[in-house]
Amino acid sequence: MRIARAVRSDAGKEEGRTLFERIGAFLVDQRLEPTPTNYAFVHRLFTDPDDTLARAVELITDRGVRLTPRDIQTLTADEHSDEPVVSDVDLKARTEGLVARTQMQVEGFADMVTAMRAETADFGRDLAASAEAMSTGSDAPQANDDFLRITAAMLQRIRVAEQKLETTTREANDLREKLEEARDNARRDPLTQLPNRRAFEEAFAAQEAAGGSMCIAVCDIDHFKSVNDRFGHAVGDRVLRVIADALSQCCRGHLVTRYGGEEFAILFTDVPPDKAQAVLEHARGTVQAKRYKLRDNDAPLGEITFSAGLTPVEPGEMHQTAFHRADRLLYLAKHEGRNQVKIGSASYSDFRR
Ligand code: GH3
Ligand code: MG
Ligand code: MG
Repeated sequence: MRIARAVRSDAGKEEGRTLFERIGAFLVDQRLEPTPTNYAFVHRLFTDPDDTLARAVELITDRGVRLTPRDIQTLTADEHSDEPVVSDVDLKARTEGLVARTQMQVEGFADMVTAMRAETADFGRDLAASAEAMSTGSDAPQANDDFLRITAAMLQRIRVAEQKLETTTREANDLREKLEEARDNARRDPLTQLPNRRAFEEAFAAQEAAGGSMCIAVCDIDHFKSVNDRFGHAVGDRVLRVIADALSQCCRGHLVTRYGGEEFAILFTDVPPDKAQAVLEHARGTVQAKRYKLRDNDAPLGEITFSAGLTPVEPGEMHQTAFHRADRLLYLAKHEGRNQVKIGSASYSDFRR
């Protein structure tokens, strides 16, 4: 169903019919539940039929396809971007929403250009005809009138086109900002605000492509489960944030990421392994020396430490292979009493199992 056209003709034909009834009919037509979300969505379509959202719906329903609740979620997903991101599913829906709207904008822009070209061609033809009439002098006063009328109409159209272009440019800038934001969110851990595993893998690939040297460290908080068990998950979350900050500060200039759970991966670029080890040892000492306290009563949480595995990446080595080696070293560090950094390279066979 063409929303914009349906609404315009409805407005004339069915004056007595209320907006409420038309929204209801649309919901029934599309077999959508009359939930507040769906109602609000269709309300927008009917009250702002020229908006990009209505045009997006037109594209979907034009092909005879019914709208699904998933479409509604996807099309409006980026509008809730001020809310905290809670899951990958959320992120994906938001990104899909942005992509759908961007596609709509590009298509709308192409339509606008096509319409403008057609109008310009028409005006050109009419102008040529009246210029011809003026030069032959067949009906000069009439041709002069036509000339003025065509020029005035053309100016009016240009004004309208300029306004449309201005609106579209504003929308495009807005979308570009939101896309950049979505791109950033997809590479950031919402709890600690550190870059995430995806960012780590991309940085690894970029450094490899550039032919630079790398060391990988995998750090894991010791006995973290007991922090949660004794003080609760919220306190555990705060400890994760404090450790994330400490690692970031101590390893400034290197990429510190939250790789998952209570595990952090650090990518050292263009530094020799012994320098990376010194930085990591400093971070380990800093985390151990911190005095962690409960917010409510200042009761101490006790010492919190982490263990780490550190390894240089061989030239041309796959990310997974090097990461696995660092993980084996971490396991060794845990095994040998925790709160320590184990370093090793691909040629060191002790942990190549
Ligand atoms: P180990 O020294 O062997 O690493 O012991 P551990 O207790 O740290 O390891 P284990 O794998 O047994 O437990 C990890 C815990 O980390 C369990 C999980 O609930 C907790 N955890 C993972 N992610 C989060 C998070 O985002 N917030 C909180 N509060 N806890 C988390
Ligand atoms: Mg772990
Ligand atoms: Mg742990």
